[in-house]
Amino acid sequence: MEEKYNENLIEYTGGCHCGKVGWNVLAPALLKVVRCNCSVCRMKMNDHVIVPENRFILLFGKDNLQTYTFNTHQARHLFCKNCGVQSFYRPRSNPGGVGFMPHCILSPDIQEIQLIQFDGKDWEKSYHEDKLIKSMSN
Ligand SMILES: [Zn+2]
Repeated sequence: MEEKYNENLIEYTGGCHCGKVGWNVLAPALLKVVRCNCSVCRMKMNDHVIVPENRFILLFGKDNLQTYTFNTHQARHLFCKNCGVQSFYRPRSNPGGVGFMPHCILSPDIQEIQLIQFDGKDWEKSYHEDKLIKSMSN
């Protein structure tokens, strides 16, 4: 199943609103979008797609990134300090991965998404029981 998920990778280009942060990422045509309801994801509507970090390249804007952390300080919420948009981050669930925001993709158009709900309100339990999200950065 994972083989199938990883085939036909597309190179997407994305970034923040003002254009000071830009990146490329290799991800499937069918994007598995994680929707989490933890305290910060709920407020930010932080839908994200997780990929192994070697499929993500920050093209420019490193100096424009500001980091927000809280609680265990493992997730690193990176946002553009000019426009405030978080276009990618480092998820707590996947230390070896990057979570990018499908709503920050500039091109090409997204073909299809599949929504994966993660009950981040009960993070420890959900993470323990999860079989899919942990594997997304492999
Ligand atoms: Zn910006």
